[in-house]
Amino acid sequence: RQRLADARRLEPAVTRDGRRVEVAANLGSSAETADAVEQGAEAIGLLRTELVFMNHAQAPDQATQEVEYRRVLDALDGRPLVVRTLDVGGDKPLSYWPMPAEENPFLGVRGIRLSLQRPEVLEVQLRALLASAEGRPLRIMFPMVGFMEEWRAARQLVDRLRAEIPVADLQVGIMIEVPSAALIAPALAAEVDFFSIGTNDLTQYTLAIDRGHPSLSGQADGLHPAVLRLIGMTVEAAHAHGKWVGVCGELAADTLAVPLLIGLGVDELSVSARSIALVKARVRELDQARCRQLAQQALNLPGAAEVRAFVTEQD
Ligand code: PEP
Ligand code: MG
Repeated sequence: RQRLADARRLEPAVTRDGRRVEVAANLGSSAETADAVEQGAEAIGLLRTELVFMNHAQAPDQATQEVEYRRVLDALDGRPLVVRTLDVGGDKPLSYWPMPAEENPFLGVRGIRLSLQRPEVLEVQLRALLASAEGRPLRIMFPMVGFMEEWRAARQLVDRLRAEIPVADLQVGIMIEVPSAALIAPALAAEVDFFSIGTNDLTQYTLAIDRGHPSLSGQADGLHPAVLRLIGMTVEAAHAHGKWVGVCGELAADTLAVPLLIGLGVDELSVSARSIALVKARVRELDQARCRQLAQQALNLPGAAEVRAFVTEQD
């Protein structure tokens, strides 16, 4: 099965009834780009930029960051790059950013909240990204957005900078990984260019389970109908405004989840490079119309275990 999937890893993923689903790669470092393309990535769906910042004794300057972003764009050879701005704070500290201790770091100053408190750092990162694009397709997204005001403040900064550094092919969007963002998706969708659903955090915050909890994390299953409903609402809102939606959390590589995500209308799945061939093979087995029915039924089940049993039985 793996060998069959591997043989077709460079071909697009299209369902039996003709729906194309983009399959992209999640990356933690620029050096992995060529391998991801070789594994069949049609884009980078999530470039986590934390490593760029953690590998230095102080925040890297614009030129240092540009080297990293150019390396990825060069290796992509015209394929789109979705890059997430720095997502630290809370439980992911940076040595050169002294931050007050928090009792609940997952509910504290992290992601876009931290970036908006330190706009000078975000500004350098955005300048480096815009300058690296050089006509290539660049999509910038912000992590942990939960409020309209956060999106607007971040967007405003991008707009100010792109007036100085024009980019021919730029989209600006947000991660959907906080339940409030999914719940106000209709308002956000009118303003963003795209959404990318981070199911790791979306599951953690929806189910109130620490994603790394030693005894509870097994219950943090993104197939919980509460999470599926938020995904469905997000896609519906985006599509009503002609915007696209990706999923870049772990759920995108889960073979039981793929039919449900496609049934909910997701346009792109972004997974680790080693999962690309199998996710594409999974998409090719499916029928979109059938997936839509499956997803609607799954939404009415009481829990993730029931959803898993249901999909397994229907498969
Ligand atoms: C997520 O939360 O699903 C996600 C993709 O981001 P990270 O795992 O980096 O928090
Ligand atoms: Mg996240």
